[in-house]
Amino acid sequence: MRNVFNFSAGPAMLPEAVLVKAQEEMLNWQGTGMSIMEIGHRTELFQSMVNKIEENLRELMGIPENYQVLFLAGGATAQFAMVPLNLLTEIKKADYIDTGIWSQKAIKEASRYGEVNVVANAKKVDGHWLIPDENEWQLSEKADYFHYTPNETIGGLAFNYVPKKPTAPLVADMTSMILSEPINVRDFGVIYAGAQKNLGQAGITVVIIRKDLIKEPIFLTPTLYQYKIEAESSSLYNTPPTYSWYILGLVLEWMKNEGGLDGIYQKNCRNAARLYDLIDHSNPFYSCDVLPRFRSKMNVVFSLPNENLLSLFLKQSYEVGLTFLKGHKLLGGARASIYNAMPEEGITKLIAFMQEFAAQYG
Ligand SMILES: *Cc1c(COP(=O)(O)O)cnc(C)c1O
Repeated sequence: MRNVFNFSAGPAMLPEAVLVKAQEEMLNWQGTGMSIMEIGHRTELFQSMVNKIEENLRELMGIPENYQVLFLAGGATAQFAMVPLNLLTEIKKADYIDTGIWSQKAIKEASRYGEVNVVANAKKVDGHWLIPDENEWQLSEKADYFHYTPNETIGGLAFNYVPKKPTAPLVADMTSMILSEPINVRDFGVIYAGAQKNLGQAGITVVIIRKDLIKEPIFLTPTLYQYKIEAESSSLYNTPPTYSWYILGLVLEWMKNEGGLDGIYQKNCRNAARLYDLIDHSNPFYSCDVLPRFRSKMNVVFSLPNENLLSLFLKQSYEVGLTFLKGHKLLGGARASIYNAMPEEGITKLIAFMQEFAAQYG
């Protein structure tokens, strides 16, 4: 057993079982005498691997037949452009809600292609961050889609519901929460997620798109940025990030062994609840300025009484094998990213450390 628990926001901790399996298979993948890295993407061997991966993803998420699953390169950031390039029509207008830094990046990119209407912004009320109620959103009369970020990785602010008000198809950047809780795929037009937080290794992005939304772009769009072409070529228009795809497959197998989405979700709920409970009862040594209702179960953002204590906290935690607890550079403070791969022992160890640290310096 490894004894380091990595709280990085991404690339993030991977399940140990996945790393062990990848190591075992490194030189001889499925009895071929070759590494998966050396296998051509147009071979039957590779094809059967990716078919199985799609089947497992469909099973875990309950993806209906009328949705296409794409495995693309370029990270979630490429989707910030692909979404408007492929979904805008002659209306050329989209609604976005701004709940933090990732929404803002998506908004900035979409603004290059069409009109973006920001329906609302996250705000701080009485010292706590919250997402304004749906009734307060200024939705467009007509929009090609509605984009939101269910979990804001940097600010630790999360929706605790799926928006009901927008009539345009929902587009969700699920990069930091995909497969961490049950969802109903039918609620969405497009779901996308880079892999390096909950799905595996950086380099591959999952896009789940309702088939009727796949059409010829109205813009002059690079070939690789067209959903239609990627769909027609089963995500194999050019050489894909084959190793990242393979690791994604191992992560899905691991999830199935862990009791699937329900099992993972229960564990994630317990982990987040224990950590927030400690923060809220630390009298107030640690504090979290997100309103409890909107707290992320994946990225627990908190602060310490001052910068000196924060540096000491980061240094000492790293030394005992609780790594990368530093908050994002834009926000400062501390952040514990506790994705699917974070075991309960990691939380137990972190809590014990935080209690001792507060007792000593509080
Ligand atoms: C990490 C992250 C991204 C950026 O992903 P890249 O793979 O670096 O493009 C986008 N959105 C969210 C919500 C993220 O957490």
